[in-house]
Amino acid sequence: MEGGEQKERTRQESEPSQKRGELAVCHPGYFKASESSEKCQPCPKHTQALSTGSISCNCQEGYYRAPTDPSTVACSALPSAPLDLVATTMHNAVGKIELSWSPPADTGERDDVDYSVTCERCEGDDCLPCGESVRFEPGSTGLQDTWVSVSELEPHLNYTFTVEARNGVSQFSSKRAATTLTTALCYTDPPKVMSMRLEDQGVTSLSLSWAVSRRAQPNSGHRYELMYRKKESDSEKDVTTYTVLVLEKSSVQISDLAPGTVYVFRVQALSPEGNPGSNSMEREFQTLPEVEVQSSMPVIMGAVVGGGIMLLIVVVILLLHRRRRNPHARQGPEDTYFSSSEQLKPLKTYVDPHTYEDPNTAILKFASEIHPSHIAKQKVIGAGEFGEVYRGVLKVPGRKEVAVAIKTLKPGYTEKQRQDFLSEASIMGQFSHQNIIRLEGVVTKFKHAMIITEYMENGALDNYLRDHDGEMASYQLVSMLRGIAAGMKYLSDMNYVHRDLAARNILVNSNLECKVSDFGLSRVLEDDPEGTYTTSGGKIPIRWTAPEAIAYRKFTSASDVWSFGIVMWEVMAFGERPYWDMSNHEVMKAINEAFRLPAPMDCPSAVYQLMLQCWLQDRSKRPRFPDIVSLLDKLLRSPESLKTIADFDPRVSIRLPSTSGSDGSPFRSVSEWLESIKMSQYSENFARAGVTTMDQVLQMKNEDIRNIGVRLPGHLKRIAYSILGLKDQTSTLSVFAV
Ligand code: AMP
Repeated sequence: MEGGEQKERTRQESEPSQKRGELAVCHPGYFKASESSEKCQPCPKHTQALSTGSISCNCQEGYYRAPTDPSTVACSALPSAPLDLVATTMHNAVGKIELSWSPPADTGERDDVDYSVTCERCEGDDCLPCGESVRFEPGSTGLQDTWVSVSELEPHLNYTFTVEARNGVSQFSSKRAATTLTTALCYTDPPKVMSMRLEDQGVTSLSLSWAVSRRAQPNSGHRYELMYRKKESDSEKDVTTYTVLVLEKSSVQISDLAPGTVYVFRVQALSPEGNPGSNSMEREFQTLPEVEVQSSMPVIMGAVVGGGIMLLIVVVILLLHRRRRNPHARQGPEDTYFSSSEQLKPLKTYVDPHTYEDPNTAILKFASEIHPSHIAKQKVIGAGEFGEVYRGVLKVPGRKEVAVAIKTLKPGYTEKQRQDFLSEASIMGQFSHQNIIRLEGVVTKFKHAMIITEYMENGALDNYLRDHDGEMASYQLVSMLRGIAAGMKYLSDMNYVHRDLAARNILVNSNLECKVSDFGLSRVLEDDPEGTYTTSGGKIPIRWTAPEAIAYRKFTSASDVWSFGIVMWEVMAFGERPYWDMSNHEVMKAINEAFRLPAPMDCPSAVYQLMLQCWLQDRSKRPRFPDIVSLLDKLLRSPESLKTIADFDPRVSIRLPSTSGSDGSPFRSVSEWLESIKMSQYSENFARAGVTTMDQVLQMKNEDIRNIGVRLPGHLKRIAYSILGLKDQTSTLSVFAV
């Protein structure tokens, strides 16, 4: 094309004009600005003169002349779009980024290119201009340099910036030479609280509001933490009640205050992750005295605290103002108010991750992000609901390498599954206790999400006990139970109801410390193989669950206490299955008829009594976890108390038939015995090993029984002993009743 154009021009130049009268008339492709004797000029670049005698050349299609361009110069095109547009977050500059770009590859052959920047906030396909809330330095139009700084941005909002290159002829075309970039601020600093005001004052209420350094939009994820307490008189100095509210709005009405009392209020903004801002504002305000108000204004009724209240996090009773940082405690704003001694632990409340509109916010708040390069998987150790569980190591630079368990999310997950999977970390991350499995962190920013927890060398408690059947003394078993009870006390103090407390959900480390685990939100419904659908809806592990929770889903710490009783039984019975092979229906019927599990073999009487207390029908009469911990502590302090053994009645625990063999021994053969205890699946193992009489069974060592492939050797053997020692075969299930 270009070559053809050139050829045409050469031909025209060789015959620039033809005579018209005295003056030369220009050929097409040539022009002469005035009818003078001047020579015809070839049309400048990107112009054309189609007729003879042109006094100017018009722009070719797609080319223009700026108003200030003389008509004798070449026409020019629009520039191409700017290149390499990037946004850089400015450190230490809150809400500010710098956009920079490279000049367009094609300036349209002009040297008057400048740039304009526009800003939109987009949600999906819906975009709205940012308006005047966003500031551009040095400006948003006519930019000569290839950068601009943008400030007053809100964190976590998506901004779409369009940088358009313009030159002197851009005005003639509707085409835009623009590059677009969508970005969100990486910083999460909350705004500063600048001032606090008393809006209204009552006898028992105060309304407050506060101003912040910059506009915090309702959906920006910022919240405010308001803490208040009575201003102490000297006599009250050792007892202070702090109330902490987390609010979405910058105002609040607080009711139920004491009349005529000075309160100290402190407010600070929280980032969407729950991190406090750098400043806080403290002010004192006083409620009106009772008399004065009765005459002047009605007492504000109701305990409605401003509409913005999201949740009441903490009511902390601090005695003696001593602080102690728990070395494992996640550092959060509430920690500041923690008291020192075990008994004075704060009533810190568990926050359901569901209260967060965006579950990712909950994760960010409660779990630390770990880079996958710091994690090395070593071996598969289990199968979770969402994927495999690995043993591995965590090596964070500057920290000691630690053994960890790595829960993975299998590929092909849905967003809902990913969130359910990570919800376990959002819950676990809120806990910090010796007997609760500790969260090391999460991987959420990479394709393969992971939950990293401390590694528990001995795995799940039920399997551990089955593998060590009969090998541990009561004292050891009771100290394991004490650990589990302490973990449960901590959870119930936090108002967390576990719902699936069972030995399979307790993990054991190399020191035989037991830790409560399995906190997924959906776990009771989906994860647990023991989960069974009930008529009241949902899936429930029937054998571990209190009757009121089965009947009408009344899950409370008292129903967790029932489950704890079942765990006590599992532990004392070395991992035996509660209610053996009874069907769920039979279990529910038996419980309803006031039957309860009998004491496991060799179970201290005091321990069995505690189990029975945990299984009281009336949940208000069951002991609470603090009572359970105290009682177990007491038993452990005086091991003598474990010496009295509860009655063990294998006729009940193994539901023997009431007929017996003719020779005084209840069974004629090993297989008859095994059948009676519903363990016929082992008949062949015994037969193959040539063990056909009960006497032979009793000669066997645990090891021998294990070697022939029996899973519960010690247990089986002890059952055999008990049966053979049995005199009276007539009892039925009656001792099962309480
Ligand atoms: P879960 O999904 O929590 O039920 O885990 C499945 C299995 O993985 C458990 O039954 C344990 O055997 C194993 N497991 C899970 N977490 C840990 C851990 N922290 N340490 C050791 N083993 C674990």
